[in-house]
Amino acid sequence: LFDDEPAEWEVDAQSQRLVATIVLGEGATGEYDYLVPDTLSDRGDYFLEVGRRVRVPFGRSNRKVVGYCVTLETKLVDAARLKLVAEVIDASALLSPAMLRLTRWMADYYLCKWGEVLEAVVPAGVRLLAGTRKVTLLSVPEDVRDTLGQLKLGSPQQRKALAHLAASERSLTTAQLADAVGCTAGPIKQLLKRGLIEAHEKRVRSSELDETIVERESPLVLNEDQQHALDAIDAALESGKPRGMVLFGVTGSGKTEVYLQAIERVVGYGRQAIVLVPEISLTPQTVRRFRARFDGVAVLHSHQSHVERHREWQRIARGDVQVVVGARSAVFAPTPNLGLIVMDEEHESSFKQDSAPRYHARDVAWQRAQAEGIPLVLGSATPSLESWYKTEQGEFARLDLPRRVSNRPLPDVLTVDLRDPAHTRFSRGAISRPLHQAMVAALRDEGQVILLLNRRGFATHVQCPACGYVAECPACDLSLTFHRQESILRCHYCDHHEPPPVNCPDCKSPAIRYGGMGTQKLEAEVRARFPEHTCERMDTDSMRKAGSHQRVLDKFCQGEIDILLGTQMIAKGLDFPNVTLVGVINADTALHLPDFRAGERTFQLVAQVAGRTGRGEKGGRVLVQTLSPEHMAIRAAVRHDFEMFAEEDLATRRQLCYPPFGSMIRILVRGPQEETAQAVAEGLTQRLRQETTGEEGVRIMGPAAAAIPKLRDHYRFQIQLQAPTLDPLRSAVTGATAKWKVPTGTFLAVDVDPWDMM
Ligand code: ADP
Ligand code: ZN
Ligand code: ZN
Repeated sequence: LFDDEPAEWEVDAQSQRLVATIVLGEGATGEYDYLVPDTLSDRGDYFLEVGRRVRVPFGRSNRKVVGYCVTLETKLVDAARLKLVAEVIDASALLSPAMLRLTRWMADYYLCKWGEVLEAVVPAGVRLLAGTRKVTLLSVPEDVRDTLGQLKLGSPQQRKALAHLAASERSLTTAQLADAVGCTAGPIKQLLKRGLIEAHEKRVRSSELDETIVERESPLVLNEDQQHALDAIDAALESGKPRGMVLFGVTGSGKTEVYLQAIERVVGYGRQAIVLVPEISLTPQTVRRFRARFDGVAVLHSHQSHVERHREWQRIARGDVQVVVGARSAVFAPTPNLGLIVMDEEHESSFKQDSAPRYHARDVAWQRAQAEGIPLVLGSATPSLESWYKTEQGEFARLDLPRRVSNRPLPDVLTVDLRDPAHTRFSRGAISRPLHQAMVAALRDEGQVILLLNRRGFATHVQCPACGYVAECPACDLSLTFHRQESILRCHYCDHHEPPPVNCPDCKSPAIRYGGMGTQKLEAEVRARFPEHTCERMDTDSMRKAGSHQRVLDKFCQGEIDILLGTQMIAKGLDFPNVTLVGVINADTALHLPDFRAGERTFQLVAQVAGRTGRGEKGGRVLVQTLSPEHMAIRAAVRHDFEMFAEEDLATRRQLCYPPFGSMIRILVRGPQEETAQAVAEGLTQRLRQETTGEEGVRIMGPAAAAIPKLRDHYRFQIQLQAPTLDPLRSAVTGATAKWKVPTGTFLAVDVDPWDMM
């Protein structure tokens, strides 16, 4: 009756009680105290401990919501004011105290709710299944098995499920069976009801769960550079102190072998290692390399079923696993005694999550490494400038593998200057004359060809084909974007705008135009030019079906495809000895994106794609088509000179206070009504300016239309905050958004250390 208003005489009734602090998974912000009833505090099956989930009554309606218990202590409270924990969900803690601290740090750093982080860290499969201690296993009784042929069954799904279970060598859970035949639990329940299958409860141990057997390999004898790197990691391991290290080496320089041997040491100390790889390179081959060296290898990635994820998570938490290999979220793997974190291809975009919590796995990994006093090894041929800068500052160590193990030279990289009419006169398509000739030669010698078309250039920049001039914002040093509807050039950082030039301001050519070429168009051109050769396209459109990515790669590997063309998807981590030519259709699409990382991405792209060729006996070369061959990022990539690139790009960033010299937060406001979204963005900008008045060095830019101004019927505006350090920006955003109600239907996304500016 008096649920929310305690009676007067109870106000001072303080007593010592066991109190749990609960962070709600979704919805409400904040932490709430609840009393722990005696039934949940004794050591029964479902007693409460820190890191388990609970159901608690919430709000006036007392609806039951799920929360995480983050602290548990006996203290003096006014018991009448507190509600009771209703139920404990999990049979064991999902999060260790260390993981709770890490997630708390993430919520503060990335300006999101703690509950939101917790939901992201604990995989859905684990949240769903953690409460199940015993599994219910299904099997087909003997007598049913004998009469299987004569049974009349209602639905084809029942028939399929029954046949699958009868043929299966072991008992299955409902979820496994449903997964296997592609049905819901419904038909299985029907079978149970009719007594055609039976259920029994059982405790399942991980040892009963089969793992693929891989032939074992022994470690290789390291070359001098590798040995040097391993020694440095070893010293860091023994020191018991956190140590960030950048392992800088081209593809094929033997980085993975160094990881493997470093992990061997870690395992020798009885500890575990986490290896983070980009989602796209989490292939069976990668996993096999680890399974060939270690007994307990767990794999975590986003395409796993709930059951699989849960199984891996439990094995890891029990300490049955020595090595966890996984994509971004594997940084949260619940290893009991972590000894090392490795991040391969650390510059990769897929390590940054693009929904809340918008964390970068590299930064979370470093945070975790510091908390656990262990080394973090970041491997790349083209390290992010953030990590590179840390090595220059002495914060991270730098370990070099300057040569390919095979001693094969890196391929020759040549630019094709698209401004030269002799190169393009040949045709009006995307393939220049020199590239066409190189393709003819490569195919004649039975080599394979990769063509890369970076399509991220859909935010179309204006470029002069005669001289390579690109329209840039005078304030931001970034390319302007052409907006077709208004026929205007806009800067997406500061909202500077100007009419598009009729003639090129530099060379007065009237041919000025905006870029844009799709992979489908390119495919048609290739098929027309090389009708006698096989060609396959690989991009997110053509690769939508699960497994199709791997199928195409397998076919290419077996030589069934002569020409593989696609987006940067094909530039990564693949090893094809027979590829003798790589063509980059237009290096400028990445170069002129309105993003301060445009140069870095272009360099990475060309360097990575160059690593795809020249691996075999025949050698190989790379042709880079561009309108700006003199651009520093392209010149450096042609010379395989990362250090030159880093030095020059860092100098520019220092001048403009871009990361790593300053911090950045990007806020995206979106909504179905343009005026509302814009008004919200403007209101927010005003509040942000108020919050930062008098703050040294804070720049607030915007609101400006986002690089993609309208997406899925939502209008998008962005505000960008820059400052020498992150703290004033974080408090400004917290201050400006506190107690502020965004109109329904309008959304704010706060991105700390943004990676993508689209
Ligand atoms: P990265 O990870 O830098 O691309 P890898 O570790 O995959 O390089 O090595 C490339 C190739 O060279 C692999 O086939 C690997 O087995 C081989 N390799 C690596 N180190 C050695 C070594 N010390 N001796 C002989 N072969 C090696
Ligand atoms: Zn021009
Ligand atoms: Zn600008």
